[in-house]
Amino acid sequence: MIDTHCHVDFEEYDKDRDEVINRAKQVLDYVIDSGTNPVSNKKVVELSKKYSNFLYPTYGYYPVASEKRSKEEVNAAYDYIINHLDDYLAIGEVGMDYFFVKDKVLREKQKKVFTGFVEIANKYEKPLLIHARNCDKKALNIVNDYENIPYVIFHCFSGSLKTAKRIMQHDNYFMSFSTMVCYSKHHQELIKHIPVEHIVTETDSPYLALTKEERNEPAFVVRGVKKICEIKNVPYDYVDEITTYNAKKVFGLK
Ligand SMILES: [Zn+2]
Repeated sequence: MIDTHCHVDFEEYDKDRDEVINRAKQVLDYVIDSGTNPVSNKKVVELSKKYSNFLYPTYGYYPVASEKRSKEEVNAAYDYIINHLDDYLAIGEVGMDYFFVKDKVLREKQKKVFTGFVEIANKYEKPLLIHARNCDKKALNIVNDYENIPYVIFHCFSGSLKTAKRIMQHDNYFMSFSTMVCYSKHHQELIKHIPVEHIVTETDSPYLALTKEERNEPAFVVRGVKKICEIKNVPYDYVDEITTYNAKKVFGLK
């Protein structure tokens, strides 16, 4: 099993990161830590060296922050990833967030920043991890135009079944389901109709725990997998094996 999306680089884990990683090692093959900004993108690489062969980094640019960034800052982020492609398994999380951002001009800016990263993923053939909230269809329409992105994951997919079906037209596109499936009716409904062949698993730790007070952690990805099995009425090993296979394929892990 793999947690394909978490943020164990965040300060929430500064006091007990070793313990959190050790607990993750008991149940997971790998953990993918997604950077979110220039500082975090460096930290995830440091962590990947500390927890080598277990934690792997991706290069992210959190969409809600992108609206505040200057052109120079965004270009610096593009240059950085182009010059450090080998340090990261994928580009993401990048994307658009229409839940937090309602302003049209700012949404347009998010789209522009996102498209820049999509072009890099396409040109350098890097997997792409998309954060799209309340704009899954728009994000899909953008990536659909690019043919050389090896794999695409819609992280914490929350779109419609209609969009999910369009995503599934691509063999190399996946939707990531988080521990949210344990309590979100929408995700529980979605999972009924999405075959495991298009699913990978994640926690988005420290977010999306079962209660607001609780801090999520990568080991808890097991909870999401159990719920998926319960809803689909399939064995645990079946979901575990296929989602792990999918994630290994996307990130080029053995
Ligand atoms: Zn995230």
